[in-house]
Amino acid sequence: MHELSIAQNVLEIVSEQCTRSGHTKIDSVNLRIGRASGIMPDALIFAFDAIKSDSIARDAVLNIEEIPVTGLCNDCSHSFIVQEEYILNCPACKGSSFQIRSGRELDIIDMEVS
Ligand SMILES: [Zn+2]
Repeated sequence: MHELSIAQNVLEIVSEQCTRSGHTKIDSVNLRIGRASGIMPDALIFAFDAIKSDSIARDAVLNIEEIPVTGLCNDCSHSFIVQEEYILNCPACKGSSFQIRSGRELDIIDMEVS
């Protein structure tokens, strides 16, 4: 249950921020998760919903924006987007030397509190 520990982390962070800003209730949390992060959004929402009931986030909705995996080829400088979780080689030249530009994110973008 990789997602459970991530959900606990997210819950801790947003609860602390909410309390520190003087609010008592979290309405929603917006996350951005890369497809190459290894995190399954559905599992994360499920885990978050399971642990939020005793917290100030008990009514919070977790919104997740998925970020595609993008890479830049070191051989031909082609930049590309894949829908898979992993890049195996450059789609243009089939080279295996490339940089991952995005897709590994796990960011808390913002949240609504009241
Ligand atoms: Zn290439």
